[in-house]
Amino acid sequence: MKKPVYLDYAATTPVDNAVAEEMMKYLTFDGVFGNPASRSHGYGWQAEAAVEGARRQVADLIHADPREIVWTSGATESNNLAIKGVLEGRTAPHIVTSVIEHKAVLDPIRHLEARGCEVTWLTPDSTGRISADQVAEAIRDTTALVSLMLVNNELGTISDTAEIGNMLRSRKILFHVDAAQAAGKIPVDVTALSVDLLSLSGHKVYGPKGVGALYVRRSPDVHVGAQIHGGGHEREMRSGTLPTHQIVGMGKAFALANDVLDDEHERLEGLRTRFLTALDGLEGVRFNGSETHRVPGIVNLSFAGVDAESLMLGLRELALSSGSACASATLEPSYVLRGIGLDDKQAHQALRFSMGRFTTAEEIDFASSQVRDVVTRLRSVR
Ligand SMILES: *Cc1c(COP(=O)(O)O)cnc(C)c1O
Repeated sequence: MKKPVYLDYAATTPVDNAVAEEMMKYLTFDGVFGNPASRSHGYGWQAEAAVEGARRQVADLIHADPREIVWTSGATESNNLAIKGVLEGRTAPHIVTSVIEHKAVLDPIRHLEARGCEVTWLTPDSTGRISADQVAEAIRDTTALVSLMLVNNELGTISDTAEIGNMLRSRKILFHVDAAQAAGKIPVDVTALSVDLLSLSGHKVYGPKGVGALYVRRSPDVHVGAQIHGGGHEREMRSGTLPTHQIVGMGKAFALANDVLDDEHERLEGLRTRFLTALDGLEGVRFNGSETHRVPGIVNLSFAGVDAESLMLGLRELALSSGSACASATLEPSYVLRGIGLDDKQAHQALRFSMGRFTTAEEIDFASSQVRDVVTRLRSVR
């Protein structure tokens, strides 16, 4: 059977071949398999050198100091570490976040809310953006943390992170940003964005699953309490033997992403235009997201009169998602689409097409003609 066309890069990306090749060198007896924490022999030193090389590669993509990078198991853990770690020991702090954050931010904040934290849940505008004014209005004397994502995983909308960050910096309030969907897609500069904590994932950037990082600002110094204890690795912030092969893979993936960033952005912009132009004649298509502040690789569309479930059944030759991957096990409409003001019906009619490094123009042409055909057919049998 021919494989369906993969249009779900926002859910995960394949590991780049160059990344996989690099990772293999850090597994077997012939390779560098030592424990990076073993200080007493060369096996450990070699592994440590590899980990530190990767730390620099990840830091470089976001213009950080390598000493500001803490390895984790993924962006979910990074978000948990950032949010729980900075609020530890504070009595009744206030948190500001939005209703369209990833579950990996919503759930730890809900967890803290159930334990006495006050939370302000901001609602974005119809394109998925939160303004610095909205954040400024929400701030109180007790506000300890603001957490807002950089690029939304369902919409592709890019936030006003720098403006929000500058405002928060002047008020000395910590700013955490989930950048899992931004890294490798748009330039990310932790200084320009004035962020204190920033979450990254390996597998959204053609690296392996199960590895991520948290950027923790050193100046002014941000204190993060460990959530996993056991040996004091990663400057006491996250214990556990470092998975050298995963880390090397993430480093290589981030270095590659840095090299191809501009070219890929332009190429995906072309594919996006090609896709939307091909759907031009189709009526009742609603674009969800921002036309101006967006990454090119994520396109979210609602098709009037057809629900996403039937549409996906008809589009079996495409691998894509309705709402977000995490929500697709349930029949609940996407809370992100509800959050930007779509009614239940419109949210149920939405599909996310996400493209990436291995998407070709031929695949996009195939996808757009399939969408046209299936939408037209489903509408005619209604
Ligand atoms: C994928 C994703 C995550 C979770 O990352 P993992 O590395 O899979 O834990 C968090 N936030 C956003 C915005 C994501 O897209």
